[in-house]
Amino acid sequence: MARQLLQQCVVCQDWTLERICPKCDGAANAAAPLKWSPEDQRANIRRKMYNVESPEWTAALPELESLEEMRLQILEEE
Ligand SMILES: [Zn+2]
Repeated sequence: MARQLLQQCVVCQDWTLERICPKCDGAANAAAPLKWSPEDQRANIRRKMYNVESPEWTAALPELESLEEMRLQILEEE
């Protein structure tokens, strides 16, 4: 199910709410891109959900290997 209700037929350009055009049986795609905002409207909720102020969250973040370890790995592969 498409999140956007209004669809436009790719064949006859007619508007519809169905995924298949009722006039010509052509495929109908979303009439416009989904609304998108660069601001994360739910950031506060997300931060609470993941409890980002806790030390456990910080400790759970992935870490890159040290540069020295990466250099050693490259030398081993050669
Ligand atoms: Zn059509």
